[in-house]
Amino acid sequence: MSKKFLCMDVGGTNTRVGVVSEDLKVLGSAIERTPELAAKGIGVGLCDLVLRWVELAKAEGNTIDGVVIGVPATVDASCRVVLQAPNVEGLTGLPLADLVEQATGIPTTVEKDVNLLILSDIHSLGIDPASAVCGVYFGTGIGNALYLGGKVWHGAHGSAGELGHVPALGRTETCGCGNPGCLECFGGGHHLASVVKESYPETPIGRAFAELADKPEVVEVLEAMAIAVAAEANIIDPDEVIIGGGLPLMEGFDREAFAKRVYTHLRKPYPAETLELRYSRQGQLSGLIGGAIRLAS
Ligand SMILES: [Zn+2]
Repeated sequence: MSKKFLCMDVGGTNTRVGVVSEDLKVLGSAIERTPELAAKGIGVGLCDLVLRWVELAKAEGNTIDGVVIGVPATVDASCRVVLQAPNVEGLTGLPLADLVEQATGIPTTVEKDVNLLILSDIHSLGIDPASAVCGVYFGTGIGNALYLGGKVWHGAHGSAGELGHVPALGRTETCGCGNPGCLECFGGGHHLASVVKESYPETPIGRAFAELADKPEVVEVLEAMAIAVAAEANIIDPDEVIIGGGLPLMEGFDREAFAKRVYTHLRKPYPAETLELRYSRQGQLSGLIGGAIRLAS
């Protein structure tokens, strides 16, 4: 019988939860509001949610073989303790895997959310699992995942792939991480929303690329995004780069113009001459499916 996994994708606003089989069929899923889960402390809320779903699965005759929790945070290299989570109160420093295992007795893995997303993308885009792949996800900030040597690359402490927190020369704005001048202060959705609100208040944020692509503030956002992608490609020399997140999905995001911007900064001849940007096919359940791939491998 195929194994079943309880997969969770914790976001600042919503938390998705579902049972996914080893062969990547989603057998059921739901959305919970993260602030409601955190009412009695986020650790308690997440443990209660896992217990509820384990019981539900049991009632349907399914045994849960493993739990995986994706979090918008850095996680230690052994995938057990959340290191820093700027967008979910109470998550920083939480030994989440231990808490869930104590509550359920089921082996539990905690991962940075984009590390699960890149696994789902590699699968859905049909990328050879032996490839070196970089995933750059432009949402509120810049999410980043590295897939090297057939697995997600965590680094010595779990903090690999923090591309959004590479410092930009001469900038001093304070980032959500606490450091000055991080790249995601200029190449993320949070910054785009604030410049549009300030300089072009009549333009809805969703129309920023469609209406304001030539304006200097928006050009700077696109340039910061391109620098982020090119910087990582120049370091890793990957087989594939996956671009994802909400920003590239916005109306008017010009993929061809973006590729040209990235190309300008890529080292010639390689990776410049062979690098083709792939776009994520992420959907609402990608984090859950990526979680099942993580546990099945
Ligand atoms: Zn930062």
